[in-house]
Amino acid sequence: MRIPITALILFVCIFSHAQQKDLTTQLYETYETYKEPLLQKRRIKHHELQPLIEQYKNHPKFKVAQVGKSIEGRSLSLISLGEGPTDVFLWSQMHGDEPTATQAIFDIFNFFKSDDFAVEKQEILANCTLHFLPMLNPDGAEVFQRRNRLGIDVNRDALRLQSPEGQTLKRVRDSLNADFGFNLHDQSTYYNAERTEKPATISYLAPAYNYEKDINEVRGNAMKVIVFMNKIIQKYAPGQVGRYNDDFEPRAFGDNIQKWGTSAILIESGGYHNDVEKQEIRKLNYVSILSAIYTIAKENYKDIALEEYEEIPENDRKLFDLKIANATYPLLGKNYIFDIGMNRLEVDKKDHNDFWYSSRILDQGDLSTYYGYETLDASGHTIVPGKVYPKLVNTLNDLAALDITSLLKSGYTYVRVENIPSSKLSSPFPIHIIGKRYKLPEFSIEIGLNPTFLLEKGGKITHAIINGFLIDLEADKKTNFKNAMIYR
Ligand SMILES: [Zn+2]
Repeated sequence: MRIPITALILFVCIFSHAQQKDLTTQLYETYETYKEPLLQKRRIKHHELQPLIEQYKNHPKFKVAQVGKSIEGRSLSLISLGEGPTDVFLWSQMHGDEPTATQAIFDIFNFFKSDDFAVEKQEILANCTLHFLPMLNPDGAEVFQRRNRLGIDVNRDALRLQSPEGQTLKRVRDSLNADFGFNLHDQSTYYNAERTEKPATISYLAPAYNYEKDINEVRGNAMKVIVFMNKIIQKYAPGQVGRYNDDFEPRAFGDNIQKWGTSAILIESGGYHNDVEKQEIRKLNYVSILSAIYTIAKENYKDIALEEYEEIPENDRKLFDLKIANATYPLLGKNYIFDIGMNRLEVDKKDHNDFWYSSRILDQGDLSTYYGYETLDASGHTIVPGKVYPKLVNTLNDLAALDITSLLKSGYTYVRVENIPSSKLSSPFPIHIIGKRYKLPEFSIEIGLNPTFLLEKGGKITHAIINGFLIDLEADKKTNFKNAMIYR
């Protein structure tokens, strides 16, 4: 039998493609092998990173150098590997409460430490030298805050250079005169891709280096690498990418680093459904940054069309944790229809290792241009205030013994407890705990207040909203409830 040569070529192409998955796919599928198990949540501290960095000090592939110190004296380390002519410099967490990429950097180290992917790693390390500066603001990380010990935003210190953290970043950038710079941040989880309900899981910016927003080769190369990474994220989190406004900020590092001749790529890790500790986003950082490094090493980003950068949807900030839509709100004898948007704000515990939620109503009215990670259409439902359970409960154990769901169904959202341990910061039950003498303020739906109310339909209470968590009282649905409040 004779097979036409074109069909044969096609067959071979399809076959070899199926055989050989691209690097990005392989990185995604094998991620768990390289994920650093000692880093599992956002509130990580400088002292937790040190033993991890220590192991690279005598490793033949890696070089570790202390390049500076924070105001409180915590070391800033630069970890380098490779021998190629293209220098790639990556720094993370210049804002102390933005740790997602720091974790991904240690995953990337595990990748390079392993013996796998030998061919690809050889290509990277022969063409590039990689330099990582994880956790640039360790004093901020210690108390999980954006600013450094001086109380300034290190990302507005690129000109004045008062912070040792900013001075270190500038000094390292200058000494490397790096070709590429990855400026790794986290953004609010309430950003979305413009005019969609999709969270901006990753946002990008190739910062401008002047007010005119000119595009030279340095900035153009950053844009091209961003287009490349956007395609990767679109594959695993479709529609969940945003592009930052590129207005020039003369004090910021990204803008200046672009000006100083390093192609600066800003990556912001945002939100992802049901990923409070951002571990899925960390994985997307790992996959997309490593893939970007590979394309830089191979120089095949150069063929990407610049215009594609502008096609990435813009960032917007129109997400709530919970949106209740079309609820009926009775006020002074009349009914009104409105939407309520609410967010769950994190309150750190004393050691900044953990947190609890204290929620707020952020907006109310026609919120039809806004979205929720969780949305309830409350058409035909009336908002009713929750009542105080009439019996005084002695201890939290006694409260635990009560059927809380039936209390909610009976219209109670508060329970008076005689003995509230002073160490207890929040209620573990989906009902608020109040002290013996606590006087409940008059009920109102108002911006800034804790979102707590019931929804009623046909004389039956169907839903409870407690501290911004939605509890469906009719369906036996799993809720994402974490905690209610204690008012002493
Ligand atoms: Zn930041």
